[in-house]
Amino acid sequence: MITVGHTLLGAAVAVVCLPKPCPWPRAIGHSAAFMLAANVPDLPLPGWGHDRYDISHSVFSNALLIVAVTAAVGLPPAARRWVGGWGVLAALAGAWLSHLLLDSFYNHGRGVAIFWPVSSARLALPIPWFSVVPPPPPFTAALWKEFAAEVVSYGPLLAAALVWRRRRRATGQTPR
Ligand SMILES: [Zn+2]
Repeated sequence: MITVGHTLLGAAVAVVCLPKPCPWPRAIGHSAAFMLAANVPDLPLPGWGHDRYDISHSVFSNALLIVAVTAAVGLPPAARRWVGGWGVLAALAGAWLSHLLLDSFYNHGRGVAIFWPVSSARLALPIPWFSVVPPPPPFTAALWKEFAAEVVSYGPLLAAALVWRRRRRATGQTPR
């Protein structure tokens, strides 16, 4: 999975969970946080990302980081109110952990050892059109094909979230 699918899913969750009311600068920051959270396991940091796929894609190590981030943002009342409350933080955690599920969709079928180091069991839910491709550069035909596959597969989630929010606003129900 390249970053496209993760980013689109994070954006869709953000659209559903945007606090009310939400001015543009805040909406952009809020959405960026969700899109970043959905990509955290792949961040190219020392000892993380695809250099240490076991650590970075374990539900345990990610849960520890989520608890740390949630405590830092959720415990101070002013910060918690600004982000929209515990519900938004829970949704952010969901977007973050969705990364592990989406990576299990690779068509190589090896799956993700999400319970490392407790278990070597792997979550593998291969979908035929999701391929592993090297990151750019160069921008190869295989990369563009994967880009298109992820846009077509996850773009409708973002579109559905936008339509849902617009309808809620039109009917007087304010999205939370
Ligand atoms: Zn990944």
